Amino acid sequence: NSESCDPSSFLRHFRKSSATPVMLLRHIAQAMATEMQEGLDHPGERKLKMLPTYLECLPTGNERGLFYAIDLGGTNFRVLRVQLDGKEGRILKQESIQVPIPQEVMTGSSKDLFGFLAKTIVQFVSREADLGFECVALNQKRDIGFTFSFPVNQTKVNGGSINAWTKGFSISDGVNDTVGTLAQCRYWNDDAMVGVILGTGSNACYVERAAAISCWSSPPEADDLTVVNIEWGNFCSELLPRTFADEGLDADSLNPGQQEFEKMIGGMYLGEILRRVLLKMAEDTGLFGSEIPERLTKPFSLLTPHMSTMHGDDTSSLEVVGSVIEEAIGVKYTTLATRKVVYDVCDIIAERGARLSAAGIVGILTKINRCGDLMLSCLTTPNDTEVKKTVIAIDGSLYEKYPKFRNYMEDAMKEMLGEDYANNVTTTLSKDGSGVGAALLAAAISTEL
Ligand code: ADP
Repeated sequence: NSESCDPSSFLRHFRKSSATPVMLLRHIAQAMATEMQEGLDHPGERKLKMLPTYLECLPTGNERGLFYAIDLGGTNFRVLRVQLDGKEGRILKQESIQVPIPQEVMTGSSKDLFGFLAKTIVQFVSREADLGFECVALNQKRDIGFTFSFPVNQTKVNGGSINAWTKGFSISDGVNDTVGTLAQCRYWNDDAMVGVILGTGSNACYVERAAAISCWSSPPEADDLTVVNIEWGNFCSELLPRTFADEGLDADSLNPGQQEFEKMIGGMYLGEILRRVLLKMAEDTGLFGSEIPERLTKPFSLLTPHMSTMHGDDTSSLEVVGSVIEEAIGVKYTTLATRKVVYDVCDIIAERGARLSAAGIVGILTKINRCGDLMLSCLTTPNDTEVKKTVIAIDGSLYEKYPKFRNYMEDAMKEMLGEDYANNVTTTLSKDGSGVGAALLAAAISTEL
């Protein structure tokens, strides 16, 4: 169509179809809250899995002693120890080692794998005293938190069965990271209610009443709190502002029709959305001249760090944008107008992803009645007039290393909640939850017993 033949009208259309006005975000937040309730009421049967963690307590800061965590991810195995000294001393000491899992162990039996893990743990534990950690008799029991980045059907806090061994970009990768992120933040601040991962993928968890977990056969007291892993990456809704690039990405992905929300937010996808838009602009508007740059036709040739580097270019000549285009797309000379278009496309994609993440978070706040009186809540507590402070623990490179993404997200939360109420909601970086968070959970559970 003639309208989409020049870059600026293409851009105008693309901006329009990616738009996330605050009213739309509020509807998305409400849809997220509704889906969360659906997932709780119908365990395992809805798009949001709402996986119970069966945790009966969260770290309080009062924990004392020596605790361990082990973190089994894709190719590495990490063992970590912390020495805790209650609220006065907090984390007195912390140390970890990371070992690659040998190829023969990875492809061997589960006995080989767990044998290797056990040997590594024993070696690490035996060096406690050398490193000045509190000396615990070697035959005394130690509590270990286990972060296991594989799909598990958890049936209790320390048990479950494995669904499938997956490697690489496993969807469930964020499962325990999210819970660890929240646990770590909660250790320092008992207003922490939500944990969010904004990294390769995206996921979130939150503090829920134990009584809300319908499939828990022996829940603790009704007032007790637990954590639910939402698996929000699989949220989908007609309300989400999808474009041709999202449709193409989904159709060519390994899991079409799934993880719709994550595919608009996750670090694995933002760069690929950008590539698809620039490719279409090269084809339809001749953005890079009469030829289509070869590299632009290759999936995942543009990565999210490329995008955040270009988006971070605040110079008037957009030289950084130019050098990334040269390096990643192979186009040596670009005009300032072209570089500005590329910058704007980065801005539109990042802004949409960030604002949708904010809508997801506000959806959780709606569900737990921590979003002010702006929205209808699923859990109404009519006499609860006191405004509670809420802390949201976030980990992942998009939040940590992509300042414009983070700013857009935080601004959208303020817009949705209103400036006044937003003062009660804080987002904070909570790094390394999968390690320290797991050790703190082990400590909390052992203290509770
Ligand atoms: P995890 O894989 O555990 O989620 P991270 O939180 O580090 O780890 O997220 C990695 C993702 O973040 C990758 O998809 C990568 O593309 C993206 N990423 C890494 N660095 C940056 C950056 N500076 N700006 C934007 N995205 C980044």
